[in-house]
Amino acid sequence: MIVMKFGGTSVQDSAAINTAASIVKGRLSQKPVVVVSAMAKVTDQLLTMARAAGSGDRKTALDLSRSLRERHYNTAGELLHTAIFSKFHSELEDSFEALDELLRGIAAVGEVTPRTTDHVAAYGELLSSKICAAAFSACGLDAMLVDSRQCMVTDNVHMRAAPLMEETHARLRTKVRPLVEAGRVPVMGGFIGATKAGVTTTIGRGGSDYSAAIIGAGLDAQAIEIWTDVDGMMTTDPNLCPEARRIKVISFDEAAELAYFGAKVLHPATVLPAVQKNIPVFILNSRNPDCEGTRITARAPHCRNSFKAIAAKKRITIIDVAAPRMLLVHGFLRAIFEAFDRHRVPVDVVSTSEVSVSLTVDSNESIPALAADLATLADVKYEGRKAIVCLVGENLRETPGVAARVFSELTDVKIRMISQGASEINLTFVIEEDQVPQVIQRLHKVFFSDLDPEVFA
Ligand code: ASP
Ligand code: MG
Repeated sequence: MIVMKFGGTSVQDSAAINTAASIVKGRLSQKPVVVVSAMAKVTDQLLTMARAAGSGDRKTALDLSRSLRERHYNTAGELLHTAIFSKFHSELEDSFEALDELLRGIAAVGEVTPRTTDHVAAYGELLSSKICAAAFSACGLDAMLVDSRQCMVTDNVHMRAAPLMEETHARLRTKVRPLVEAGRVPVMGGFIGATKAGVTTTIGRGGSDYSAAIIGAGLDAQAIEIWTDVDGMMTTDPNLCPEARRIKVISFDEAAELAYFGAKVLHPATVLPAVQKNIPVFILNSRNPDCEGTRITARAPHCRNSFKAIAAKKRITIIDVAAPRMLLVHGFLRAIFEAFDRHRVPVDVVSTSEVSVSLTVDSNESIPALAADLATLADVKYEGRKAIVCLVGENLRETPGVAARVFSELTDVKIRMISQGASEINLTFVIEEDQVPQVIQRLHKVFFSDLDPEVFA
């Protein structure tokens, strides 16, 4: 049994859904369970609608809902034969009537809570799974729609509900496994679930990958396939460096380090439930289905290259906190981190000396207030337009001299912060934002010109 998850762009229109159907057909012997995201951009639009309704702007909410309705009708119309479509059309109509009813209710109250937001947001996956199941059946697959709210049991923290694994696994075993065993293809929406009491929840943005991993782990799948619109993880951003190559296999830890940079592809934390059970996760391209993609495994095979990837993230601000008085005083770092916590600003890279700390954060509007708060503890300076560069590879752990090679390549580059150690598999430093392209290109040339063919394509 395998889980095949199709992301928003892989179900964005009738052509994409037809492609998905033929990809699933090609895997029938592996007994697929299909998990789908909402059609591309739909979740964003639903959230916009909910907010509009919440602010009392009923017209905007209903107008948006109408355009969503049209897109789903058109897609279904293109996928289904007339006879089937007319029956299906009324089902879709019921869904959209219910959605509009909900929006009118929210607008009347003029308030949208996380719980009602979830009711709205869930429509994306409810509709896409409905359409995909119908379209797959029309293509000759023995598809069966499963309402994920009957399987994915979560707590009641709306908009980022945590799945209750035992309960969920038990439901998957009773509601989904028998379908697979009977040779059917279950089609489920990702991202959505319900509390034990049956109240609709969602598990956080990008949550369909997480759903797929949980479903795969619960059903002891042989593999989880994440179908998206890129060939997999790359050695670096091809837009910055045309020589970027595909990584064939990467360890979970390496992929996790890259998540912060490459979240567009997949947030590895979301596939942890699968990796923990040693189920390999593949990132595959539905626009190029013959490409073997990237395999994420609990442990990567040996690779003779020092690094798997170089990533960069721009729009970073460095915050320097210096307190000469604090020499040898304990509790200083705690006080600093408490300030970040109060302002809900996540910290990424940290470098410390005896009397000062430098931290990086994504540039954002709460920095001035945070800095003012920190200024009650110490001297504070902050500076934007920085970038984090991160080299990732398990080999960093064992190979001496790697840092020397990296920095001897960059003798003319002003390095603002350096961090190595925490995970032992990444070397991170901070530079001026405008130097990112040349730094990436230079490092890529040095570290990725003679590649291990087992690991890189
Ligand atoms: N549709 C949801 C989102 O856009 C979940 C997902 O696609 O993974 O966040
Ligand atoms: Mg996604």
